[in-house]
Amino acid sequence: MIPAAFDYVAPESLDAALDALREGGEDAKVLAGGHSLLPLMKLRLAAPTLLVDLRRVPGLTGIQSNGGVRIGAMTRHHDVATGGIGLASMAAATIADQQVRNRGTIGGTLAHGDPASDLPAVLLALEGSVVARGGSGEREIAAADLFLDYLTTSLAEGEIITEVRLPSPDGWGAGYAKFNRRVEDWAMVAVCAAVRKAADGSCEDVRIGLTNMGGTTLHARKTEEALVGGASIDDAAALAAEGTDPPSDHAASSDFRRHLARVLTRRALEEARTR
Ligand SMILES: Cc1cc2nc3c(=O)[nH]c(=O)nc-3n(C[C@H](O)[C@H](O)[C@H](O)COP(=O)(O)OP(=O)(O)OC[C@H]3O[C@@H](n4cnc5c(N)ncnc54)[C@H](O)[C@@H]3O)c2cc1C
Repeated sequence: MIPAAFDYVAPESLDAALDALREGGEDAKVLAGGHSLLPLMKLRLAAPTLLVDLRRVPGLTGIQSNGGVRIGAMTRHHDVATGGIGLASMAAATIADQQVRNRGTIGGTLAHGDPASDLPAVLLALEGSVVARGGSGEREIAAADLFLDYLTTSLAEGEIITEVRLPSPDGWGAGYAKFNRRVEDWAMVAVCAAVRKAADGSCEDVRIGLTNMGGTTLHARKTEEALVGGASIDDAAALAAEGTDPPSDHAASSDFRRHLARVLTRRALEEARTR
């Protein structure tokens, strides 16, 4: 439970943080809330030689809603949960316990790329993006291009996520359904749903994200297509596990996760329809 030795810096500007990362090379790591990185270091599954702590870098916290939603990468889960920004707030409120929500950050959870985390599926489902700064400037990465595989994102070495962008929740109903043994546990499976209804009450557009149903976070494409095509929630939710490859582990078998995906998709859609 004791990590390997490492150096630590806490720069006071983004440029200084980028410089430190560049000088540290491939074994330098950004430190945000530390709630994924430090456990990995204590288990010796990660052994960075330099941690570049972002806590003193100005301009990386806060939520701005002006048309779309912009969230600073160092914004804590608690502030997202209480920020009144629809699906992202609903999902962030279910992350672990208050202590974890007080430390963990939205940039950290998206950079970590764990398919069992709650917020990657929200970013993917809502077709959001992250803004990343690196040695060669700034770029915006769409969620669909960010999550590549288990704990693997398309962030380049030395890049720092500075901002997370989501579309405005106005006009969308939102539902979040998560299943775990204890309330503070990671999701066995979770489903986020956003639904926009047409004037006649039919489903005009729908976005559904699946947590812990494969090596990376996923869309429930078949369910989305069925709903827009006029299927009932029950019939569409029955398709939620199509195209997924959920893990089988100590918490649940693959088959049980497929069952959960169908049930939770129905619940998330019913909630979204009424909110
Ligand atoms: C007991 C416990 C229970 C948890 N339960 C849940 C849960 O139910 N649901 C859930 O979603 N999460 C859960 N988590 C994880 C938690 O949400 C973490 O906060 C999150 O995964 C990582 O965010 P962080 O800010 O702590 O990142 P860190 O641990 O500091 O960093 C994680 C990784 O991202 C990189 N990184 C961090 N910030 C940036 C950035 N701005 N730019 C580029 N790279 C960056 C780091 O270098 C590192 O590789 C749990 C954690 C604990 C300890």
